[in-house]
Amino acid sequence: MDVRHWVNQALEQHQLWRDQFGPVPTVEALTVSDEAMTAAFAAYTERMQDNYPFFHPRWVGQMLKPPHPAAVTGYLAAMLINPNNHSRDAGPATEEMELEIMGQLATMFGFEQPLGHLTTSGTIANLEALFVARQLHPDLGIAYSEDAHYTHERMCRLLGVQGYPIPTRMGTIDLDAVAQLAAAKKIGTVVLTAGSTGLGTVDRIDQALELKERYGLRIHVDAAYGGFFALLGRDEELARELDMVPEPWLALPQVDSIVVDPHKHGLQPYGCGAVLFRDAAAAVHFKHDSPYTYYTQSELHLGEISLECSRAGAAAAGLWLTMQVLPLTHDGLGAGLAASRRAALAWTQRLADDPLFALYQRPALDIVTYFPTAEPPVLSTVDAKTEAIVAAGMAAPADESLYLSVLTCSAGEFVKRHPEYAVDQEQVRILRSVLMKPEHEAWVEPTFTMLHDFARSSTNAAPPADAPAANL
Ligand SMILES: *Cc1c(COP(=O)(O)O)cnc(C)c1O
Repeated sequence: MDVRHWVNQALEQHQLWRDQFGPVPTVEALTVSDEAMTAAFAAYTERMQDNYPFFHPRWVGQMLKPPHPAAVTGYLAAMLINPNNHSRDAGPATEEMELEIMGQLATMFGFEQPLGHLTTSGTIANLEALFVARQLHPDLGIAYSEDAHYTHERMCRLLGVQGYPIPTRMGTIDLDAVAQLAAAKKIGTVVLTAGSTGLGTVDRIDQALELKERYGLRIHVDAAYGGFFALLGRDEELARELDMVPEPWLALPQVDSIVVDPHKHGLQPYGCGAVLFRDAAAAVHFKHDSPYTYYTQSELHLGEISLECSRAGAAAAGLWLTMQVLPLTHDGLGAGLAASRRAALAWTQRLADDPLFALYQRPALDIVTYFPTAEPPVLSTVDAKTEAIVAAGMAAPADESLYLSVLTCSAGEFVKRHPEYAVDQEQVRILRSVLMKPEHEAWVEPTFTMLHDFARSSTNAAPPADAPAANL
């Protein structure tokens, strides 16, 4: 799929669409000379060189990748019109697309008559879910795991709700601790994570359902990162084939709200999150009357069920077009996620075969955490080696570079998993690779070989006796 062809098509179709309305006068004040634009564009191009190759399989670091060509085409074509999905009058076509998208996201999670909309980000989507949770349980707190995204703690403060961080077991929330808080009537809602940002773990949503039953506990699932894995996880056979635990995914239809970020695993450019409520009655919490935006009052406007006002109709357009060619099925969009999962399993296998590395813990999805082994086994050596490997990978020439990311763990969490390590500092940096590009699957071998070589060359030399302590 040649993005240049489709971008040209988008520009041409846009011109045809405009032409039917007749000519438009040029505005002198905004006219720019070719020379001025040439100079500005040259400066811009130069500035943009300062970027990392998020698109390349040798970028095995943070959760970043470019959008799909279909997303680029759909986004650009709509952006030229610039509809605003705040109201139907401001973006009739793209609001319609957004409603269709929400229907399909709901089907992916198993929600039957949900309420939902796109947001600018997972942060705002989570804020909306917690806002509704607070409206329903104004006097109760909200629990989230210590490995949940930091946004939950911050949003609780913003909403004036008492937040309760809950300890984790192997990176998933300790549901016994949640049950105690629920029994003591301290919390009305628990946030569970499906695909935690650091370790990529999935909380036991299925086991939490019992607390919903017993205490009326509201369950919000933050699946900003992992949500699209529902395409695989809710298919029990497929899940087992990919060595995923299906139970949490199968429980999704019974939770109260879900957040998913199409700008993470949905192949979209930034500016595309989504929130869904199982019970459409959540709409009452957003109700407001705006005298100036709604002229066609008969239909529901997305602006009426959102905390945000203006939202890019182009974000809906990009996602809608992507979903036409890669539908929300296990062999549509899901095929790419399955490739990422297989890449993570292959990476895990390579780690097991290489004495220079050890797996931190088994990956639940496509985020692998691991560390350079140390002899004697002390945390400060792991930390220093991690730093050296990351630096060496990034310092190599562009076409030989390797980009890894770092995860800072507490010493306590590290030795729970690897008790043979001596603790000589409170925190330790380990390696983290988000294998979210399907391209990784075919590249596990070459990238892992590079990793191995960087580990050998960068950590071979004994550090000088007066080497400064790793700077945390
Ligand atoms: C990325 C992420 C968020 C935050 O979403 P943004 O789109 O970055 O605002 C929240 N929760 C989880 C689990 C995430 O991975």
